[in-house]
Amino acid sequence: MNSFSYTRAQAVETAAREVSTNHTAKFIAGGTNLLDLMKENVERPTRLVDLTRLPLNQIEDTDKGLRLGALATNANTAYDERVEERYPLLSKAILAGASAQLRNMATDGGNLFQRTRCYYFYDLATPCNKREPGSGCSAITGYNRVCGILGTSESCIATHPSDMCVALAALKATVNVTGATGERTVEFADFHRLPGNEPERDNNLKPDEIVTSIDLPADGERFAKNFTYLKLRDRASYAFALVSVAAALDMDGDTIKEARVALGGVAHKPWRKAEAEDLLKGQAATKVNFERVAASLLEGAKGYGSNTFKIELAKRAIVRALTMAANGQH
Ligand SMILES: Cc1cc2nc3c(=O)[nH]c(=O)nc-3n(C[C@H](O)[C@H](O)[C@H](O)COP(=O)(O)OP(=O)(O)OC[C@H]3O[C@@H](n4cnc5c(N)ncnc54)[C@H](O)[C@@H]3O)c2cc1C
Ligand code: SF4
Repeated sequence: MNSFSYTRAQAVETAAREVSTNHTAKFIAGGTNLLDLMKENVERPTRLVDLTRLPLNQIEDTDKGLRLGALATNANTAYDERVEERYPLLSKAILAGASAQLRNMATDGGNLFQRTRCYYFYDLATPCNKREPGSGCSAITGYNRVCGILGTSESCIATHPSDMCVALAALKATVNVTGATGERTVEFADFHRLPGNEPERDNNLKPDEIVTSIDLPADGERFAKNFTYLKLRDRASYAFALVSVAAALDMDGDTIKEARVALGGVAHKPWRKAEAEDLLKGQAATKVNFERVAASLLEGAKGYGSNTFKIELAKRAIVRALTMAANGQH
């Protein structure tokens, strides 16, 4: 680990300014991802700006829905009564991730920024465009079991490993950020990005922008009855998703009024496709209809050898998750 200096942020604006003027400084929150990366020398910030004393850990009602402070822990969010009752899909997704100890430290803001679990990203002896732009991608022709099948590029086939983010995508959350030049709100679909030819960039934020809160829209409460988060992985617990599905249905009797389906473990960002979801509008909850959604979501999927199995796995997982959601099985 390289030596670095440390400061405790006193205010959001000054913290943003500090990182905007020092390109080797980084924010730190729970530290559950960043410290691991620093110990492995994958990330080498010269200065850490600790956000944890900022007053951003509240979960509160707003006129638009429920607001999660960026420093609310994953545990406090998952067990918050309002989240459990109104956005249970989010509780379920968070609790599918990591371990109880990690969820006690990990923050909601930090969860959005967690980096890929591609093996080569952590292995300094191998080329990796995400870690060292221009060096090449070892995963494309290497061992890519955990890598992506959708939205990949010749530069990078990594996936975003978060469970929480898959549910936030399905719930159409929005993210409030403050940077050195002011505040803005980002739609969840626009927060993360595909790798393209700049895989070193995981998201569309500037380095000095701090996530201050995440808004769950009130209309997401329609999905509190018919939902599930299905996570398929190599071990039953404490493992990242090979494929995960956040499925949520707004139903009128046996008819689907609206569907939301987001996939994790398959792309550089949670994968959603409005046209696939629209296929279920006004339709019955049948296996054939769910198979159509799966085919649409996986359109253009490409396997790279050891991860090709994910294409069929994802299709089956989508059908199973939608069936469970329709039956009210969580
Ligand atoms: C062993 C292990 C298993 C895990 N398993 C899972 C799993 O199964 N599913 C899953 O989803 N996750 C899993 N995780 C990941 C875990 O959820 C993340 O590490 C955690 O959410 C990151 O939050 P943090 O507050 O600790 O972030 P930190 O490590 O403090 O920061 C991570 C990044 O976010 C940036 N950052 C933090 N807060 C902000 C902010 N408010 N604004 C701007 N930038 C910010 C930091 O600069 C840093 O780059 C696992 C982690 C470990 C170590
Ligand atoms: S897939 Fe991305 S993260 Fe993995 S080796 Fe290739 S460039 Fe690096």
